Amino acid sequence: MLNPGLTPEQKNICFLKGTEPPFSGKYYDFHEDGVYVCVNCGTPLFASDTKFDSGTGWPSFADVVAQGNVKKSIDMSLGVERTEVTCGTCGAHLGHVFADGPVPTGLRYCINSLALDFKKVE
Ligand SMILES: [Zn+2]
Repeated sequence: MLNPGLTPEQKNICFLKGTEPPFSGKYYDFHEDGVYVCVNCGTPLFASDTKFDSGTGWPSFADVVAQGNVKKSIDMSLGVERTEVTCGTCGAHLGHVFADGPVPTGLRYCINSLALDFKKVE
């Protein structure tokens, strides 16, 4: 389910599990009201009201729009256990989720800007 409209940079993140450099993406310092969707298939993933400034240089969210819209799996690629986050619809790699986020969820979804598209709420 590869969207032919993706740029090489977007394909590298979504299907080769790349990571964009911190503070490089278009959404880490972005505060409009709306919904972040999968750049590959358009599935709604994260809402702007769960976005917070983590200081990491990547867009960070405390929760997902709906359970099932993202999938979590164990990633041992760096020799430590991390939880990878992928699109529940198309399987595109989005980023990782960590257990050091704000209350009430305590979660920090650390997501690549390149894996996201933004739909503004009018
Ligand atoms: Zn998707």
